[in-house]
Amino acid sequence: MVGSAVVRRLVTENVGEILVAPRDKVDLTRQSQVEDWVAAVRPDVVMLAAARVGGIAANAARPVDFLHDNLMIEANIMAASAAAKVSKLLFLGSSCIYPKFADQPIVEEALLTGALEPTNQWYAVAKIAGIKLAEAYREQYGLDFISAMPTNLYGPGDNYDLESSHVIPALLRKAVAARDAGDANLMVWGTGTPRREFMHVDDLADALVFVLKNYSAAQHINVGSGSDVTIAELAATVADVVGFKGGLTFDTSRPDGTPRKLMDGSKLAAMGWSPRIGLREGLADAYAHLQRDVAARSG
Ligand code: GDP
Repeated sequence: MVGSAVVRRLVTENVGEILVAPRDKVDLTRQSQVEDWVAAVRPDVVMLAAARVGGIAANAARPVDFLHDNLMIEANIMAASAAAKVSKLLFLGSSCIYPKFADQPIVEEALLTGALEPTNQWYAVAKIAGIKLAEAYREQYGLDFISAMPTNLYGPGDNYDLESSHVIPALLRKAVAARDAGDANLMVWGTGTPRREFMHVDDLADALVFVLKNYSAAQHINVGSGSDVTIAELAATVADVVGFKGGLTFDTSRPDGTPRKLMDGSKLAAMGWSPRIGLREGLADAYAHLQRDVAARSG
C-alpha cells in the first residue's frame, strides 16, 4: 500500500527512474537477493517502505514473522544501500514504537522511555531496531539515513483480510457485508473506546517526499494527521460512508490494544508540511477503491 502510493506521488516529480524491487524476484528477507538486486540497479536514493505489517490479531498470531521478517528486511536493505553508497535512505517505522502509556500527543523523544504495548511488541521492537540501525549508519559511516514514523495508515491497496487487517479495512468490509445482509448491527472488536489517529496513504506519500527533500538528522520524525477518534466514532463514520443504517455491537473478547496513540506532528508542521485528506473524505476514497476492486474481481 505505501510503496504504490509513493510511486503514484513520485511520478509527479522529476526524480528520474523509479526502481521497485519486484516481489516475485527479490525476497527482501534474503540477504544475497537484496545485495544482488541493489548492486544491479544502483539506486541513488532508497525509501524503505517494505515491511511485514498487520493488525492487532495478526501480530498476536505470528510474532516470529513480525519480528524476524522486519529485522531481516531492514538489515538487508540498509547494508546493501550502504555498500552501494546511496546518497539518502528513508526508513519507515510506525507509531507503535512508542511506549504504551506515552504522554499524548507523542513526541519523538518518547522513544524508549517506557514499556511497549504487548499486542504489537514484536513489530515495534523490529521497527525500533530499524531506527537505531539507520542512526548507527549515520554515526559510524556518516551516511544520510533518516527515519519517519507514520501513524495508522489506510487507503488503496490495503489488506482487507478480516483476521490480519487493520481496523479501517476490516470495518469497511464488515459494514458492506452487514448492509448487504440487512443485519441489525455491525460487530466492532474491543470496547470501542481506544483512540487512534489515521492518515490516508496519499497524504503519507506526500509527506515522505517532503521529508526526503527537507530532512536530514539522526532523530526520527513523526508523520501524523494531528487528530484522533475513538474506534466507536470511526465505526459510526465508516457505517455512514458505506450506507449501513444499523447499530454497533462490541466484541469485548477481542483486545483493545493501546488506549491512545496520537502523535505530535509539530516538528514536521514547523518545516511546512501538513496533511490534506480528512478522515471522512479519505474513508470515502478507500471505499471507492474497495468497490472498484470487488467489481474487477467479480467481472
Ligand atoms: P492497532 O492500532 O495496532 O491496535 O491495530 P488495529 O488497527 O488492528 O486495531 C485498532 C483498534 O481497532 C483496536 O482497539 C481494535 O480492537 C479495534 N477494532 C475494532 N474492530 C476491529 C476489526 O474488525 N479489526 C481490527 N483489526 N481491529 C478492530
